[in-house]
Amino acid sequence: MNEVLFDYTRQDAKGDSCTMHAWAKVPPPLTASQRAERKAHAAALLKAHNAVLVAHYYVDGDLQDLALETGGCVADSLEMARFGRDHASQTLVVAGVRFMGESAKILSPGKRVLMPDLDATCSLDLGCPPDDFAAFCDVHPDRQVVVYANTSAAVKARADWMVTSSCALAIVKHLKDQGQKIIWAPDRHLGGYIQKETGADMLLWNGACIVHDEFRATELELLKAEHPDAMVLVHPESPEAVVKLADVIGSTSQMLSAVINGKASEYIVATDNLIMHRMRQLAPGKTLIEAPTAGNSATCKSCAHCPWMAMNGLDGVIACLEQGQGEIHVEPALGLQAKRCIDRMLDFVAANPSALAPKVQGLVKGIGAA
Ligand code: SF4
Repeated sequence: MNEVLFDYTRQDAKGDSCTMHAWAKVPPPLTASQRAERKAHAAALLKAHNAVLVAHYYVDGDLQDLALETGGCVADSLEMARFGRDHASQTLVVAGVRFMGESAKILSPGKRVLMPDLDATCSLDLGCPPDDFAAFCDVHPDRQVVVYANTSAAVKARADWMVTSSCALAIVKHLKDQGQKIIWAPDRHLGGYIQKETGADMLLWNGACIVHDEFRATELELLKAEHPDAMVLVHPESPEAVVKLADVIGSTSQMLSAVINGKASEYIVATDNLIMHRMRQLAPGKTLIEAPTAGNSATCKSCAHCPWMAMNGLDGVIACLEQGQGEIHVEPALGLQAKRCIDRMLDFVAANPSALAPKVQGLVKGIGAA
């Protein structure tokens, strides 16, 4: 069973692209000396404030390097939250998008969580308004509500389960084996992939990631023909026709693992292109090729880079520490409610280690996420 439930628009009320506002806030490029000076300044501030920087694989390479050089981490969204929760620092600087800051706050309600730019969001989060989603769930009370990590605290508070891309299959299969029917939100491509793999009865919300939605199968086939020995890595937020061409379908952590451990010398990568910064560090010598997107004809800018992730910069880290701006707040009762579905997932993967993504040498161990 598969229904289109929500037609997410990519335009605001004035007809402007939803990403235009994000691109307008992307920090301008810095010179080498400016980057070095800002990095040193940010490192000193992190130390002075006893803060730790937790960065996503999709943010600027300087931020990834700064996180690792100062004792923070570069990871997927869930591992970012878990790392922040388990770290001694009482101030977490989260370089990523808003739902990641919220997840960090939900798991560490007593800590101060800062973000370089609070306007950094995600099309999956935007495309799943909590009131609409709750109303839909209310008319299907017989279904378990399973939501992806890329959702607001309010949507998580309405859910029975939160999942990430690498444990979603195992959790949905578990629910199906129990005879449960499912509401899935918000990514339609990931939901469709899981539905096909598990045969579960799922109602799919109609959200999409504007980055992964732009990868194109025809152009990927042409690229594969040019690089017949390349291994093709695809994130399951991509369209079905692209997923079908993959040698490895997986989360960011699983894709990194595939490059590090794979025998091929060339890899075509269908996810945000800034993951290649970490791939190059962890798998030097391997050739990485960006999977093709729709290019200039696309609705989004279609450059395989997330505009909201791109809003994170060194100046934002400095500003949030110096001025205390960009603090994430989650109303405590809502946070407690949202934490239930995250804890349920964490308990499930702890009890079912086979649901975990393969461990990756040199990475923070994790179960993988967006
Ligand atoms: S890359 Fe896609 S899923 Fe990730 S934050 Fe950007 S819009 Fe959301």
